[in-house]
This record gives sequence, C-alpha cells and structure tokens, in this order.
Amino acid sequence: MLRSMIFAGMALGLAGCAGAGEQADRAGAAEAQTVAAADAGGTVRHIGNAGLMIVQGETKILFDPLYSNGYNNYHLVPADVKRAVISGAAPYDAIDAVLISHAHGDHFDAADLIAFHAGNPDALIIAPVQAIEAMEATGEVPESMAARFVPMGLDYGQDPLKVAFEGLQVEAVRIPHAGGPSRRALENLVYRVTLAEAATVIHMGDADPALEHFEPYAEHWSARETDAAFPPYWFFLGAEGVEIIDETLNARAATGVHVPVREPAELAATGRAYFGVPGEVRELAGE
Ligand SMILES: [Zn+2]
Repeated sequence: MLRSMIFAGMALGLAGCAGAGEQADRAGAAEAQTVAAADAGGTVRHIGNAGLMIVQGETKILFDPLYSNGYNNYHLVPADVKRAVISGAAPYDAIDAVLISHAHGDHFDAADLIAFHAGNPDALIIAPVQAIEAMEATGEVPESMAARFVPMGLDYGQDPLKVAFEGLQVEAVRIPHAGGPSRRALENLVYRVTLAEAATVIHMGDADPALEHFEPYAEHWSARETDAAFPPYWFFLGAEGVEIIDETLNARAATGVHVPVREPAELAATGRAYFGVPGEVRELAGE
C-alpha cells in the first residue's frame, strides 16, 4: 500500500506537477547545515538531488553530479557549483572518478559530462553502458574522454562487477529502477565504493526498495561493511526499504538523497537523516 503511494508520488514528480511557488516556500523553510569536517575523516558534500562528492584522504569522487532536469520536483545543482564541477575548481578539483547511477535526466546529462571531461581530463567516468552510449551518440566525445570511460555492463542477477584503481575500489550490482516493470530495461546501478582503503560508501541511484532485489546479494553486502549508504529517500518510507538499509546492506549509517524540493512530511516523520537543499557537508559516519 505504502509502496504504491510512493510510486504514485514519484510519477507525479516526473510528470512535473509540483507548483513552483510551493517549492520556493519549502526551499526557504529548509536550512542547509554545514558541518566542519574532521581532518582525518572523510566527508560527503551534497551537490543536488542524488549528486554527492565523497572525499577520503587523497581520493575524491562524484556520484551523479551533472544533470539538467529537476522535473519541477527536485533541486538542480546551483549554477555556481555546476560551473565549478565542470571546470574542476576547488573544492571540486582533482576528481579521481565520476560515477553515474543511470541515464535519467535528474542524474545525468551527456553534454555536461563532455564539458566536465574538458575541465577534468584525468577523471575516470564510471557509468552504465546506456549512459556511455548516450554520450557517444552526441558525436562529441573526444578520444581522450573515451579512454577514461569505465563501462559497467551488468544484467539482473549477475555477480557484482568489480573494478579497482589506485585508492579506489568500485563494485556494482544492477538493481531495478523504482517505478515498476516498465523501468526494467533501464540500467540502474547500486555502487559500493571504497576510497583510500579507509571509507566505504553505497550509492543506489533510483533503486526499487524491494527485498527480493537485494537478498540474492547477501554475500556481497556482508563481505564488506559500509560506513555510509545514500539511498533515495523512499527507502525510509516503507518496511522493506528500512530493512534493506538497516539490515541487508551491512551499512553503519544512511543518509537519504533524491529528496523533492517540497520535502514530504512523511519523510521528516521518519526521523531519518537526509540531504535536502544542496550544499550540506557532513562527515562520513564516524560512530
Ligand atoms: Zn531515475
């Protein structure tokens, strides 16, 4: 019951029915907090929607940082932040890798990624095949960029795909996008990434919050403890989603992302941590 309500809300968001005036009111009411980062510990910076920068030691990565569509429902990356990410300006300099969860307009923009490569020529671009094909389809991908692509081709039920670079271990499984069977053709990846052999995070894209998708990977989740998971907020709104986050994933802490501008009252009522207005910085779970 609750799940179908959540999906109805998402469909509404994608259809762009949220009122702009209401959004502005809610955005003003929510206040971004900035927590000073400990020198030794890792940090997560919320860029917008499911966009995050994770920093641990010398390793710095971005998840879903460049997208152009809020579907009248989700925060866009602030314009000055977007410029800084694309040009590689501090604090978004020396990015080791960008990871894309899936090729939807509120997570990914092919032209923005091509511009990003120009400003960040060394950064790896780790992405589902569909996102890489979308970039290549523009005809604007230089050879230097194609050489940085790390395609994560995965089918449902396939063993986790693992790739490793200096200071960066990336594992991914394909989990269906929320919204039902019509989304099955979409490659949505749930990443588990270990930075500098010191911090492990999970980013889930728009994963569907059903246990049946996650339980077959029990061995995968138990093999490594995660310091901080960043599920889309709808995981907090139903019993199965909560069980996945609190039990199945083997994660010590979780912070919700992909929160609508008009923050759902039922989300606040859960008491769970989440990112709302872009710009917040938190320490990775240190408890
Ligand atoms: Zn999506």
